[in-house]
Amino acid sequence: MFFYPKADGTNHRVAGARGRAAMGTERKPEAEKETMEWCVALPKVELHAHLNGSVRNSTLLDLAKQLGDQGLIVFEDFKDVITKNSRSLPECFKLFDLFHILTTDHDTVTRITKEVVGDFAAENVVYLEIRTTPKNNEGKGMTKRSYMNAVIKGLKAVEDVDVVLFDSNLRTDETLSPTPMSDLAGDMKKQKIYVRLLLSIDRRETASAALDTVNLAMEMKDQGVVGIDLSGNPVVGEWETYLPALEHAKELGIPITIHCGEVPNRKEIQAVLDFCPQRLGHVCCLNDEEWKKLKSSMIPVEICLTSNVMTGGTPSLELHHFADLYNAKHPLSLCTDDSGLFSTSLSNEYYLVASTFGLSKAELFRLAQGAVEFVFADDEVKKSLRLMFARAAAGLVM
Ligand SMILES: [Zn+2]
Repeated sequence: MFFYPKADGTNHRVAGARGRAAMGTERKPEAEKETMEWCVALPKVELHAHLNGSVRNSTLLDLAKQLGDQGLIVFEDFKDVITKNSRSLPECFKLFDLFHILTTDHDTVTRITKEVVGDFAAENVVYLEIRTTPKNNEGKGMTKRSYMNAVIKGLKAVEDVDVVLFDSNLRTDETLSPTPMSDLAGDMKKQKIYVRLLLSIDRRETASAALDTVNLAMEMKDQGVVGIDLSGNPVVGEWETYLPALEHAKELGIPITIHCGEVPNRKEIQAVLDFCPQRLGHVCCLNDEEWKKLKSSMIPVEICLTSNVMTGGTPSLELHHFADLYNAKHPLSLCTDDSGLFSTSLSNEYYLVASTFGLSKAELFRLAQGAVEFVFADDEVKKSLRLMFARAAAGLVM
């Protein structure tokens, strides 16, 4: 995710984007409500979710209060921004400052991870790849490794959902259990969610820090780390700085996803497409030639509708490049990017596709099912997910 403010300084808000707290409970015409509930019941695969941007508002409020009590921030400055469901760009920037302070504490990282997994599972996300930048912060006694240990601790602390981290005992006939429609308002069965981690290289980092992150990903292969991401402010840094680390990851066989085309940087977009990562995020600002190249590459794209509109990567939902890629049968998957920050949910992203582009329920199902093929987890997990979707198809009215 990156904010790309328009020259006129206008803010970007997504009309109709709904907060996860209000998910499925807002007053709206019956048909819309039914579609939203169906999107919640639909099993989903989330491939592009930043840990920090997915934090609950209630948690942010609580943690901001604690920082306020410690005199580290002025709580009142943040209170109103946190409690809003639709934020302007400057307000989002303000929250980023807060995230930065919060994630220098191990216990907070653990708490956030635990809650984020629980929130995705509650809306029937059955496979989740969380991405996060391992941080070094000497003053707080934090290393990239200890930061990731705090994340793993959070994954293991999830109570209401079975989090499947490792594959050792996985059988291919093992199925996940998305919530039946009839259970949405009542008893929630204990669900399973596969969770895998991507280590992000932040564009502000040095070549050597980027290399450390790749080596850490290799070290933590048996602990659920399945890939590398390149993200951060796209107007900061040079492609050449991260290239050695990304090439090293490629040599080690670690799958890679790259934030691409958040701004119209011709040289870098060409280089990224030539590099041929396993997946690409966003691809908002491509010119005709790059667009052609992307389509012929068939590199799967992580589509983040709400994020792209709010950050100005695309002028409106209606004009989003989802439609072009979808019609071209390009491999793609719907994702949230930063569900907390943008007050959305993966169910809401599916709802937006239905309401904006007119996809039928059967088409939404195939879109969700198709994302299984782009996960970075191993084939056994894929097999299990395929089976789960096949079984879910029989239970969902389409
Ligand atoms: Zn992102």
